[in-house]
Formats: sequence, C-alpha cells, structure tokens
Amino acid sequence: MKALGDDGLTAAAIEEAFGEIRKDDLDWKSGRCFAYVFSAGEDVQEVAKRAYTAFMTENALDPTSFPSLVRMENDLVEIATELVHGPAAVGNFTSGGTESILLAVKTARDHARAERNIEQPDLVVPDSVHPAFHKAAHYFGLEIISVPVRKDFRADPEAMAAAINERTALVVGSAPSYAQGVIDPIPELAEAAAQRGVLMHVDACVGGFFLPFLEQSGASVPAFDFRVPGVTSMSLDLHKHGYCPKGASVILYAQPALRRHQLFAHKRWSGYGITNATVQSSRGGASVAGAWAVLRHIGATRYRKLQSEVRACVLELCAGIEAIDGLRVLGEPDGSLLAFCSDTFDVFTLVDAMRERDWYVQPQFAHRHVPKSVHLTVTPINVPHREAFLADLASCVSDLRSTAPTGSVGADPMAALAAAFRSGQLSIPDAIASIGADPTKTAGASAAINRVLDQLPPEQAEAVLREYFHQMYAAG
Ligand SMILES: *Cc1c(COP(=O)(O)O)cnc(C)c1O
Repeated sequence: MKALGDDGLTAAAIEEAFGEIRKDDLDWKSGRCFAYVFSAGEDVQEVAKRAYTAFMTENALDPTSFPSLVRMENDLVEIATELVHGPAAVGNFTSGGTESILLAVKTARDHARAERNIEQPDLVVPDSVHPAFHKAAHYFGLEIISVPVRKDFRADPEAMAAAINERTALVVGSAPSYAQGVIDPIPELAEAAAQRGVLMHVDACVGGFFLPFLEQSGASVPAFDFRVPGVTSMSLDLHKHGYCPKGASVILYAQPALRRHQLFAHKRWSGYGITNATVQSSRGGASVAGAWAVLRHIGATRYRKLQSEVRACVLELCAGIEAIDGLRVLGEPDGSLLAFCSDTFDVFTLVDAMRERDWYVQPQFAHRHVPKSVHLTVTPINVPHREAFLADLASCVSDLRSTAPTGSVGADPMAALAAAFRSGQLSIPDAIASIGADPTKTAGASAAINRVLDQLPPEQAEAVLREYFHQMYAAG
C-alpha cells in the first residue's frame, strides 16, 4: 500500500510529520490573524484539549448509552437559553453554525408543511445573511428571496415585510451579520413575520456568546434575542465567541413544540430504531465535552471581561481606520466584526500588502450597493496587537497611494481577462491558470484572482471557486 504504508508510524514520527505538514498554515498564535480562530488564551486551550481527549471515543448517536453526553448537552443548551432569555426554550448541540442553520431551515420547512399546508415553502432573508441559509435552501430545494439591505448595511424591514408571501416559512435576521458586523432591526423583522404567522430566526452565530456579556457589562445592545416577541429560533456558535474547540454550536427554539419538526426517526429497515436529533448520526463526545469544559472554565465574569476588551478594541480599530486617509468603515459595527473599504484605491491590493507584513485580513466582494471591503474578526488574541496593526495599515495605505494611481482598477489587465472569461473565450481551468492561481498552494497573492472574481457574474465566479476546490482536493 503506497498511500497508507505497510508499517505503522511511531507516535514520535507522527509528531514530526505534523511539523512538516502544517508548515504553511496561518500562524494564528501570533495574534496577527483576524479570521478563523477564536482563542481566549493558553489555559483555555489546555482545558479544552483535556476534555476533548477524555470524551474522544464516546458516541452521542445513542444518548441512552452515554447519559454523560446528554447531560453536558443539556447543560450547554441551558447556559445558552439563559444568555438569550428563552425561559421555555429547548435546543440541541450541533457541529457548527451551518448545521444549526440547516436545522432551523428544515424545521421551518416541515412546520410550514405540517401546520400551514404549504408544500413548497420559501425563505425571506436580507442580502447580508450568512451563505449557510442559501446552502440550506439549495440542499432542501427551497426558494430563497434575498432582499437588499439599507444604506447602513442592516436589513430593510419594510422591504422584507413586502417580500413575505403566502408560501413564506421563515424570515431571517442576523445579530450581527458576518460581513459588516451590524445587527439587523430584529424587533421590526419579527413583528412583520409574526403578523403573517411566519417563523423568525435570529442568526446569532457570532453574537450569541458575545452580545449578552456586553449587555451584562452595562453596554447598550440593540434587542436581538428571545425577549423580542416573534423570534422563534436562534443559532449561537460555541466555537466562535464561546472560545470552544471547533465543531460546537447550539440551535434553540423559543417554544418546545417547534423542535419536534427537527427530529428524525426511522424503523423501516431490519436494524435498530435510529433516532437523530440533529444532522449527524454517529458523533463524537469530544466537542460536547470540550465546549462544556471551556464554558465552565471561563465562567461569566471572565467572559464579560474578554468580550468588553474585544469590543473596546473594535471601537479603537474603527476610529484608527477612519483616521487613515482613504479608508472608511462600513456602517457602525455592533459587535466584534468590522469591515472597511476605500474610495480611492483597490483594497484587494491592501490585503496582500498586509499579508507581506504577516497580517491576515479577509477580502470581501462587492454586492449591489455594498462596495468591496476588508473584513476583520476581532478576538482576545488580537487585542494586544491593535496599535501595531493600525501602524502597518497606515503605512501600507500610504505606499499604495503613492504607487497606485487613482482609477487603476478600471485599467487593470485583469479586467480584460474577466471580459474574455465572460465572453466564453476561456475555460475555467485556463482562467485559474492564467491568473497565476495554483490550487495546490493556498497561500500567496490573492488580489489578482479576487479582482477577476469580483468582476465576473456570480454564477461564473461560483463556478471558478468550485473548480478551484475541485482541483485542490484532487492534488495528491
Ligand atoms: C460563522 C457564522 C455562521 C456559520 O457558522 P459555521 O460555524 O462556520 O458553520 C453563520 N452565521 C454567522 C453570522 C456566522 O458568523
């Protein structure tokens, strides 16, 4: 066996192999990476590691065999319902925000079919909604109606109300949205939904374990949780601002009856009566135990402190970015996420310039009236680096302003490539190769490919992205 090897590796050899395997990974421990990793410190990592390995082999497939996992899951749900003020709420532990959202959408679909006799339900969402809702609609064969956001990047309640129709199963708002980090007007959206007898989901994947602690610390936070009449379900990610190991989120329903539409049971085969609360069937106890240990280890007092520090850092970053000539923060971010754009130069080039200086920030595409931008997710590990970040940002911007004349975006040779691609003269693999992107190497200059993707119609850009991944996962 060439790929597997006939002789097993020793534990030491495996450790050594990891060193080589991970050499090109993002160095998130530097605190210079504003995405993907949420860490609350070394002690928390240690606690998580121990809990994770302690329950690594247990299986939550059959909760009657492992009551320990049910108990920890129920504890996690109870902590979450207390945070977002759902005294009657019930819920489940899931593998992440996407799974929580898939379940919320499936529940809404089956509720609409069972209680309202709607065979082909649809969803009404703001443009800023997380792609997981589009993925859910795609997976479950539902129509999704995406409504433009207001100039402040928040959902437009009047336009959303107008989009609700007799087939609508679910209205969605975010607290906050990922891309611009703003909280949608949840009370208005929930009222519009409730008036039509429609369910309302609040996507608090990123805010669910963040905003409540800010509010407890005395900050004013817009209403977003179960205290708002009409909010019927919420998603909260433990692996974001709960600082739990990856693979941890909760889905909550304000009323227990709603959750019945989430569950799956099957006995039409010659095996055991399989019953699943969530998407997964066999699921490791590791992430449940890891999440339980981290929440209990951090405790409310430290969460309040951590989240307040992150929030203060966000406000400082926003002020610092606004003070840099040529940069502008998008809207007024409400939590730990923010985005900024430039009206004078190409921010995709800025992303690469910052990468040269070992900062990782995320490029975001333009959509309708929202310009392309740079996204930052701020976590405790970033806080000590805020001044160094702003200094390098200002320095990169001044380099770009002196080297890149205004309007260079339009004259970009990449535009010609995008045009060739649009007119069908280029195949997708040709396009990937000709912009110098190598699917076998994930690091490197991103501005060129992002400019092309930005200029392509969404269907073609999505085809390029899928093809890029197709090739990446085939490269052995
Ligand atoms: C992260 C996120 C999600 C998706 O969660 P995953 O855990 O990545 O699957 C959904 N909504 C928002 C607002 C998010 O930030």
